[in-house]
Amino acid sequence: MERKNAWLSYDAAQKEKLNELCERYKTFITRGKTERECVDQAVEAAEKAGFISLEKARKKGKKLKAGDKVYDTIMGKSMVLFTIGTAPISEGMNILGAHIDSPRLDLKQNPLYEDTDFVLLDTHYYGGIKKYQWVTIPLAIHGVVAKKDGSAVKVVIGEDPDDPVLCITDLLIHLSADQMKKSGATVIEGEDLNLLIGSEVVEKKDEDEKKPKKGEKKDPKGNVKDNILKILKDKYDIEEEDFLSAELEVVPAGPARDLGLDRSMILGYGHDDRICAFTSLEAMLNVKKPEKTAVCLLVDKEEIGSVGATGMHSRFFENAVAEVMDLCGQYSELELRRALRNAKMLSSDVSAAYDPNYAGVNERKNTAYFGRGLVFNKYTGSRGKSGSNDCSAEYFAEVRRIMDDAGVFWQTAELGRVDQGGGGTIAYIAGNYGMNVVDAGIAVLSMHAPCEAASKADIYEAVKGYEAFLKA
Ligand code: MN
Ligand code: MN
Repeated sequence: MERKNAWLSYDAAQKEKLNELCERYKTFITRGKTERECVDQAVEAAEKAGFISLEKARKKGKKLKAGDKVYDTIMGKSMVLFTIGTAPISEGMNILGAHIDSPRLDLKQNPLYEDTDFVLLDTHYYGGIKKYQWVTIPLAIHGVVAKKDGSAVKVVIGEDPDDPVLCITDLLIHLSADQMKKSGATVIEGEDLNLLIGSEVVEKKDEDEKKPKKGEKKDPKGNVKDNILKILKDKYDIEEEDFLSAELEVVPAGPARDLGLDRSMILGYGHDDRICAFTSLEAMLNVKKPEKTAVCLLVDKEEIGSVGATGMHSRFFENAVAEVMDLCGQYSELELRRALRNAKMLSSDVSAAYDPNYAGVNERKNTAYFGRGLVFNKYTGSRGKSGSNDCSAEYFAEVRRIMDDAGVFWQTAELGRVDQGGGGTIAYIAGNYGMNVVDAGIAVLSMHAPCEAASKADIYEAVKGYEAFLKA
């Protein structure tokens, strides 16, 4: 059973639509390198499409009816959108759920230090990374610094062409005899991922400083850090203590770009899982007045286990559904339980694409390929499907019908050969409500690397598939 490649099916008009969509996607991931930046962009797009915030709707006492659109966010890092359907919500919702956090290096709470005329920032990596991939490449800092007065400064350093970039150095090959004997896991250690941010020694202008006595030389050392602190203060109004209440993420600098002489692919940071978040949001905004209430979830913290207030394990989603049902005049505790139980979901998360350089990690019949469309994983997990949400056969039959009826290119896959490794998504968490969930996403090469690759055809097919699902 070989699945067809989507490229052959496109006429000129479709290719134009595909390219227009992918241009917008490149902008989305170039501007959205943190979960907060993705939520900001999604809120902007949603409001433009007529969505109003749940809080605003509640305060106005707005009664929601079929076709109305509301969204809610939590801590600026997770988001849920609803388009109210014509059927009662307790009959079920059609949900798309993607995550908007990506592997990266977070600054430690007390990060700044000086060492031998260098100033560096200490980091703690977030999510699963190959640490050796993060050295010697241009890096940027994105995030927020929250201050004691209640204000928050948004920070983006390293993206404007005039901006400086930052970097983690690596040992020169000439002196790497010992380092090269180490395994890939330890060749660069987590504690050594220190970001270089300055080296200019600037004379200290300290008024309390005693004037040097005659014949005594002034010590010029110890002043690199002061200069960096001055730049932070002047340019961003940040004091060193403000790092204590900051969320600053070190990410690859620069825009997402076309990949390949035929421009058929996109190389960029954070495809996992912003590629599914963008396409899910796109599908959500295309749905006008569905029968079942359409829902799009963009959640944080998937890469570290979906924990905390903004992860999928949080009650955030359930509470938002309760609020929406209340504004529809449909709320009771029991009706809420029914709405969740009767829901159907596509857990929109990326899949590992077949890589001819590493063919051995896959089993070819059950592998995702570039250009063959939306990838369905009936189960993920590892070591005997452990940790997987194994979707039911009946539900997947229904999904097959929806995709085929809409003319979507799609394929099925497992994450690698049996016992080669594995991974998880948010599918099993939504499954706890008793709803039907299956993983459905886009195939990605070099997953979790600073630059990941994906096929433009798969992005186009994903929007088609997600939209058909929401309308089903
Ligand atoms: Mn993912
Ligand atoms: Mn991941």
